[in-house]
Amino acid sequence: MAAVDYWDMQSGDFSISRDGDYYRREFAGITDRAFVQRTFASHAALVAKRPVNGHRMWADYHGQAYDESEFDLVEGKWDHDHCCVCWFTITDGFTYWENSGRIKLLCDACYEAFANWPPTGSVDIL
Ligand SMILES: [Zn+2]
Repeated sequence: MAAVDYWDMQSGDFSISRDGDYYRREFAGITDRAFVQRTFASHAALVAKRPVNGHRMWADYHGQAYDESEFDLVEGKWDHDHCCVCWFTITDGFTYWENSGRIKLLCDACYEAFANWPPTGSVDIL
């Protein structure tokens, strides 16, 4: 691990072309363009005490209020996220982009394509 530049790992596959219809639709669906770059670090999750259909549901925890009678706070449980466009797995040390409320998460490669989209001069994108 010593040689790894842990805090400067770009996420996503930059070799993929993001010009196709799928990416066009995904990018067009992102209305809040105010993204900020973050570095992923494992953090706590809220885990429901009572299973639903045999599964204990869990949710990303970011300091929000929660009902301690309903949820356990489990440190380090949330150990990855996914790019909402290409589904790249973002784990500890990867940089990524999120807009407000974490509605959309983008890997660095998708964000770069998104930020440069639509291509200058194009019209009638919908
Ligand atoms: Zn991506």
